[in-house]
Amino acid sequence: MTPGTPDQGLHEHLARLEASQLYRRRRIQEAPQGPHGVVEGRPVLSFCSNDYLGLAAHPEVAAALQSGAARWGVGSGAAHLVNGHSAAHHRLEEALAAFTGRPRALLFSTGYMANLGVITALAGRGDAVFEDRLNHASLLDAALLSRAKLTRYPHADSAGLERMLGRASARLIATDGVFSMDGDLAPLPALAASARKAGAWLMVDDAHGLGVLGRGGRGSVDHFGLGLDDVPILMGTLGKAFGTFGAFVAGSEALIETLIQGARSYIYTTATPPALATATLAAIAIAEREDWRREHLNALIARFREGAAQLGLTLSDSHTPIQPLPAGSAARALAWSHALERAGILVTAIRPPTVPEGTARLRITFSAAHSQTDVDRLLDALSGLSASDA
Ligand code: PMP
Repeated sequence: MTPGTPDQGLHEHLARLEASQLYRRRRIQEAPQGPHGVVEGRPVLSFCSNDYLGLAAHPEVAAALQSGAARWGVGSGAAHLVNGHSAAHHRLEEALAAFTGRPRALLFSTGYMANLGVITALAGRGDAVFEDRLNHASLLDAALLSRAKLTRYPHADSAGLERMLGRASARLIATDGVFSMDGDLAPLPALAASARKAGAWLMVDDAHGLGVLGRGGRGSVDHFGLGLDDVPILMGTLGKAFGTFGAFVAGSEALIETLIQGARSYIYTTATPPALATATLAAIAIAEREDWRREHLNALIARFREGAAQLGLTLSDSHTPIQPLPAGSAARALAWSHALERAGILVTAIRPPTVPEGTARLRITFSAAHSQTDVDRLLDALSGLSASDA
C-alpha cells in the first residue's frame, strides 16, 4: 500500500474496528449446515444458524433440488416480468399463499430485497413510516430508501407507538414478528389495533417466526390468532426455518399486483433458480407435516433455559429458538465466544452496529437437528464461562 492512496483511509478505518473489538471475521465451514460442523479442520458443535427446523441439509430437500435442476436446469435466465417466471416459481407462490392463508404470495430473491421492495412501493416522500427501533436492518434501510419520514418507536412498545401516531398521519407500521437478535415477539394484537385506528398498513417481517411458531409453523401472526385483516402485509424468508433460500410477501390480490407493478427489487433482478422453488416446496411440506420438529425444538429451548437458570445466567425473556446471553461490551461478548470456541462450541458474538452500543451478546440459536446431549454440552461449556468471565 502506498501512503496517500484512497486505501489509506480504509486501512485506518479497519484498524479502528479491530482496536474496538468490532472487526468481523468469517469462518470457513467445511461441512453442510447442521449442529455438527467442521471449521478449519476441527469438529465444532454449532449454535448459530437460523436452520430452526433442521431442513437445510435434509436429504428430501436436497433430492428435490436435484430433480428440480434435472427438470429446469440451473439459471432462471431472466427477471420474473421478462420470461424468468417458471411453473415451479408459480407453484411455490400458490403453496405459500395456501400456507399463510392469504389470497396471493409473491417470491422475492431475498428477505432484504422483499423488505426494500414492499416499503419503497407503498411509501414515498411525504408519507410517514413507523418502525420498532430494533427492527431488522433491511426494514430500516427500506424506509430510508423510500424517502418517507421514518419514526422509530421504542422497542415492542405499542403504547409508545400509539402516542407517536397521535401526532402524525401514518402510512405504514413495520415490525419484526420475532426480533432477530433478541428472540422476543412483537405485541402484534396491540400493533394491529393501532394500525387499524390510524388507517395504516401493518407489515410483519416474520423471518424468524415462520416454520417455528403458530399452527403447523404458520408463524407469529397465527400464534396470536391474527390474520389478513389484522396484518395485511406478511413477509417471510425461506433461508431460515425452511432451510433453502429466498423470501416472499403474502397478502391481498391488490397488494401483490401493486408489488409486481412497482417493487423495484422485484422487477429489476433475475428470478431465483426454479430448482430452488422445487426444493422449497419439499421443505414446506416437511415443515407442515412434521410437528415433532417444533415440539423437539421447544423441548430443547426449555431444557436450555432451565439449565441456564440453574447456572445463574441471566437470559432475556425469549421462548423462541433465539436465546441471547447479554454480555454488555463487545470485548466481553468476543471473549465468551472465543472461550466457547476453544471448547469446540460455535456461538457468534453479536456486536454493534448490529445491536445498540453496550448490548453486545452471544446469540445462541437452537435447531430441531440438535439433541438434548448437544444442549447439555453447551450448558457445560457455559458453566465454565460463568466461573471465569461471566
Ligand atoms: N428480516 C429479518 C428479521 C432477518 O433476520 C433477515 C435475515 N437476517 C432478513 C429480513 C433478510 O432475509 P434474507 O437473509 O433472506 O435477505
